[in-house]
Amino acid sequence: MKMREKSELPTKTCPVCKRPFAWRRKWERDWENVRYCSERCRREAPKAADERAEVSRLF
Ligand SMILES: [Zn+2]
Repeated sequence: MKMREKSELPTKTCPVCKRPFAWRRKWERDWENVRYCSERCRREAPKAADERAEVSRLF
C-alpha cells in the first residue's frame, strides 16, 4: 500500500457555493452524508425532504 499524503484527503463540491471542500475530522463518521462546506451553506441550500429534519433541529 502506498503512503497517503495529507493533501489526498477526500473532497466534495458544495452545491451551494460551488467550491470544493476537503474532509474534516469532525465529519469522520458522517462523511457520506456531508453535502455542504459549512452550516451557512446548508441553511442556504434549497430544502429537500431529507434535510428538513436537520433544519428543524437547528431552529
Ligand atoms: Zn458551500
